[in-house]
Amino acid sequence: MAVRGKVLIVEDDRAICNFIRRVLEANGYEALIVHTGREAISMLTSHCPDVMLLDLGLPDMDGLQVLTQLRKWSLLPVVVVSARTDESEKVRALDEGADDYITKPFGTSELLARIRTAIRHTRTTGGNPLIAKENKFRAQGLLIDYDKYRVYVDGQDANLTQNEFKLVALLGRYAGRVLTYDYLIREIWGPNKAYDNQILRVNMANIRRKIEKNPAEPQYIFTEVGVGYRMIEGDSPADKEA
Ligand code: CA
Repeated sequence: MAVRGKVLIVEDDRAICNFIRRVLEANGYEALIVHTGREAISMLTSHCPDVMLLDLGLPDMDGLQVLTQLRKWSLLPVVVVSARTDESEKVRALDEGADDYITKPFGTSELLARIRTAIRHTRTTGGNPLIAKENKFRAQGLLIDYDKYRVYVDGQDANLTQNEFKLVALLGRYAGRVLTYDYLIREIWGPNKAYDNQILRVNMANIRRKIEKNPAEPQYIFTEVGVGYRMIEGDSPADKEA
């Protein structure tokens, strides 16, 4: 099996390191492991990982410090691994330049999905390969047509308003990744609307009524409580590689 990518794991908990290493190696990734922030920084400069999994609670420094340092010279995708239930910590990590986060405890499929998405986004310079190819995003019965500015569910036009479409379109471009409330509000309504979450919540409720079979149990756009929203990963031929 061809190596799918080199993953640097920065984590001081040996049991979690071993779990992640087993999962990654079984799925064709190469795993590099370090246990401190200092080692992480030296590893980042000496090896060239494709993605870093970064624990926030390290023995010698806060994981966010590693991220801040890295961002001075590199756009390497970073998935923050957090044991903390504190949502503001996750928002801060995303604001500091993390690409995504995963909360302990997590399962195999969630871990692999985060890594796949993070690597895919760098290899396609921030774009979604399927969208780049045909200007459409597909996930199960959902279809976003970027040329027609329309969203279809099982072939039916969802009749989204302009702002509703912009929201769904943006989440589709970053499918699989969480986009923060603040980021979405700034992108759709401009900087002056920042921190007014109400307008976003109202729009999302309307979107869900139009695209989800059961708005209370969404299958396309998920709420990351206290952080933002995440679109389901698209049906991508890239998933079948290797
Ligand atoms: Ca830790």
